[in-house]
Amino acid sequence: MIRMQFIDLAAQQDALRDRIDAAIAGVLDHGRYIMGPEVAQLEDELGAFSGAAHVVTCASGTDALVMALMALGVGAGDAVFVPSFTFASTAESVALLGATPVFVDVDESSFNVDAGHLARAVADPPDGLRPVGVIPVDLFGQPADYAAIGEVADRAGLWVLADAAQSFGASQAGRGVGTLAAVTTTSFFPAKPLGCYGDGGAILAESEEHAALLRSIRVHGSGSHKYDNERIGINGRLDTIQAAILRVKLSVFADELTARQRVADRYAAGLADVVSTPQLGDGCTSAWAQYTLRLDDRDGVAAALQADGVPTAVYYPRPLHQQTAYRDFPSAVGGLPVSERLAGEVLSLPMHPYLSESDQDVVVAAVRRAVGA
Ligand SMILES: *Cc1c(COP(=O)(O)O)cnc(C)c1O
Repeated sequence: MIRMQFIDLAAQQDALRDRIDAAIAGVLDHGRYIMGPEVAQLEDELGAFSGAAHVVTCASGTDALVMALMALGVGAGDAVFVPSFTFASTAESVALLGATPVFVDVDESSFNVDAGHLARAVADPPDGLRPVGVIPVDLFGQPADYAAIGEVADRAGLWVLADAAQSFGASQAGRGVGTLAAVTTTSFFPAKPLGCYGDGGAILAESEEHAALLRSIRVHGSGSHKYDNERIGINGRLDTIQAAILRVKLSVFADELTARQRVADRYAAGLADVVSTPQLGDGCTSAWAQYTLRLDDRDGVAAALQADGVPTAVYYPRPLHQQTAYRDFPSAVGGLPVSERLAGEVLSLPMHPYLSESDQDVVVAAVRRAVGA
């Protein structure tokens, strides 16, 4: 028996291999490796899929955050509120531009920014810093509470930048991720719900003005004349080959999201009576980047599952404010007790659209055994 995979990219490749080979061959045939036609075609298709008005692809989810923050004019002296219970990029992009990430706590049932704590953080910002914006993260695939966060932000005159690296394809109140904030970033890292075969990302924007700025930043701040760069930018382009691969993967992505939901439903049916399973907020769907349990004896359960051949992962064992590079940045008033507790409780189960029902049953049985149910 082939060992169960935590995320099985090979199963997806088997299903799509001929089409992906043809898409890559198409790029080799036309030879436009940088900003070839597949890039604009993908941007149109991502816009149609999500409902976002403008899509600017880029080289990674991290570049997407950096470029979005550059377009927002973020710099030294600015405070940007970010969760601590997230991947490093959310705070790293802020710090890279000389601004200060200010850590806020998350809600224990959604794992996403706690709007109440954000409101207290905004009312009492660190001395000497000018609060300018907030970056909610759609952790594990579920959109943050954009209505509540937007209200806090609006009242304080802050922008909202959605870090949707894990949630492209999800929705809230019938609106797709990419339309829930004025600016949204996502990632096409291979293990994300929609991933390419290398690094990739995108920014989804409401206004054409913002999108035009992002297109300029993506190519060294270019203007209308090739050798008159108008601003400081980066080399942030998505490779044509990755765009060609993503177009094939996007064509089956809706079906894959349905398959992920089916796995989540079967996990919930098999486990909700014995462990804390993920909860979706009202009107939310998830892209199910991860299916994450909360367990008192997390490490014990992980060891038992490993012994039973069930791979698991911990996202995240240490919140950012406890990591070496970030521990000198300020945490909001009241501290981050929920983030600290979750880091010791979370355990993610195998989750991908090609996970067989028999493997799902193996996972459910192993978890039940591990918690003594
Ligand atoms: C993956 C991820 C990123 C960064 O994406 P890359 O494409 O790896 O640069 C940013 N934020 C979150 C929440 C992520 O999960």
